[in-house]
Amino acid sequence: MSIVFDEIENKVKNGVRLTREDGIALFKSNDLAWLGSLANLVRQRVSGEYVYYNVNRHINLTNICTSRCDFCAFGCDADSLQSYAMNKDNVMEIAMLAAKDEDLREFHIVSGLHPDWPFEYYLNIIKALKEALPHIHLKAFTAVEITHFAEISGKSIKEVLSELHAAGLDSMPGGGAEILSDRVREELCPNKATATEWLNVARIAHQIGIRSNASMLYGHIETLEERVDHLLSLRELQDETGGFQTFICFPFHPHNTVLDGKIVQTSVWDELKTMAISRLMLDNFKNIKAYWVMLTLPIAQLALGFGANDIDGTVSEEKIMHAAGAKSAKSLTKEVIINTIRETGRIPVERDSMYNIVKIL
Ligand code: SF4
Repeated sequence: MSIVFDEIENKVKNGVRLTREDGIALFKSNDLAWLGSLANLVRQRVSGEYVYYNVNRHINLTNICTSRCDFCAFGCDADSLQSYAMNKDNVMEIAMLAAKDEDLREFHIVSGLHPDWPFEYYLNIIKALKEALPHIHLKAFTAVEITHFAEISGKSIKEVLSELHAAGLDSMPGGGAEILSDRVREELCPNKATATEWLNVARIAHQIGIRSNASMLYGHIETLEERVDHLLSLRELQDETGGFQTFICFPFHPHNTVLDGKIVQTSVWDELKTMAISRLMLDNFKNIKAYWVMLTLPIAQLALGFGANDIDGTVSEEKIMHAAGAKSAKSLTKEVIINTIRETGRIPVERDSMYNIVKIL
């Protein structure tokens, strides 16, 4: 092994923070077993043998979206044959049915940027859900949606977040971060929140007591340096606020997107490598999630040996990634998740949305 890799290994073993140069060097390494063993060491130090999952339900209010990002197979125009938009009654019907499962603990709500809905629509949905089902955690709206709400309402980000929080929003998902680079965003998603705006929404949310997740969509036009810079931007903000709960890295699925045929889909090798390097660079994140919907369940299971300590939830009715041809199931039972974790020799732990332990199995 070269001196650079020896130094990185020593840093990791001694809990010394890795630099940008270290991150770039790690992406240039193809010693996957070595990367995995280092990431596993950090994972074990940070969270021991527990692997977390939760029982949740996704609700996507609409797929009509003004942004039309090149990498998205979910968003569409209002006159598209696949378009749909839910009113409050539709949402409540889905929610009440889902809540018949006594174990359900979370609604994960993300949607397209609808051209006509006012901010009050979203506020009313949150209020109605919280009123009817106060025991269910509402993890809703990405930083991109929050920026959109500020634009359509003329309110500041802080006002939008405070009003949603008061209405019942409990935390925020990590989507919309994609790659936090102006170059990448101008090319792929020029109509939505910039990198600075995304980070600023997360910062303000954390300041007013709303915790959020962070994510990275990789495997499209970004460079390896941009992946490292993305991780460093998140690490820096986490140093400042401590408000991120978990990091999720999404491999890009080109199917049904503008980039279909132009981009080769990420390999399992790249997915495990990126998982491991994320664990190593994000030394101030407690949780790294292997999102089985994007990775498929077998790769998510493997990722538990490459730094991940969370496998997400039962999900139910995942639409966004499946629009892009994700091959995984649309939901999983608790039993399947528990067995998947047990096979790795680790301990399945059902958690709530704030990572409080519900049950150790
Ligand atoms: S990624 Fe989000 S903002 Fe972009 S087109 Fe899809 S739904 Fe719209």
